Amino acid sequence: MPLYSDEAVVLRTRKLAEADRIVTLLTRRHGVVRAVAKGVRRTSSRFGSRLEPFTHVDLQLAEGRNLDTITQAVTMTPFGATLGGDYDRYTAGSVMLETAERLVTEEREPSLQQYLLLVGGLRAMAAGDHRPGDVLASFLLRSLAVAGYAPSFDGCARCGLEGPHTAFHPAAGGVLCTTCRMPGCARPAAETVQLLGALLAGDWPVVDVADARHRREARGLVTAYLNWHLERGLRSLPLVADQ
Ligand SMILES: [Zn+2]
Repeated sequence: MPLYSDEAVVLRTRKLAEADRIVTLLTRRHGVVRAVAKGVRRTSSRFGSRLEPFTHVDLQLAEGRNLDTITQAVTMTPFGATLGGDYDRYTAGSVMLETAERLVTEEREPSLQQYLLLVGGLRAMAAGDHRPGDVLASFLLRSLAVAGYAPSFDGCARCGLEGPHTAFHPAAGGVLCTTCRMPGCARPAAETVQLLGALLAGDWPVVDVADARHRREARGLVTAYLNWHLERGLRSLPLVADQ
């Protein structure tokens, strides 16, 4: 069977037969790949904990008719070891893994930008320089943008009229001017809209000093926007505390 190598983040695993697992990976060059790890559930497995969720691994795989098989795994960064010790970072990180899998819908469709965003997001989450909820919100907005759902927090999402605007609707794709405003709009504070723009841009000096009230409001709107674009809500999102 032809072999290939790639780097990946382990998104999820599930049991297969007695000792094996199916591992869902977001790879650098092959997009989302589901592959079999044989014998991984035995205590003597040569893979050890290298194929647990969050691990950034260097892999060798053998192409299969349906599923590929992992033949080698070398840990690059064990993000799970850092995140596992902190409930807030762990739950926020879990949402990142689930979102990455949901937004890259086509298996084996290369998604380098999503891959780089996820690795960068996990690195920021593990480093602990910013609040976990802010790292998550920034990651969600940026991965939605990469997936083609870039929200507008400046100009009106419908007519382009220059902002600032303070009516927001997930269905409209961002903020709306007074003319374009539609029923059911959220009416966030101007500071919240500014914070959303900073989260999308990764403007950390602005994000880090934002008021708790505006951060809470911004995260609620990010969640609404994410859920609007995913067919159903995320399993892991309700676990995220108000960080
Ligand atoms: Zn408008």
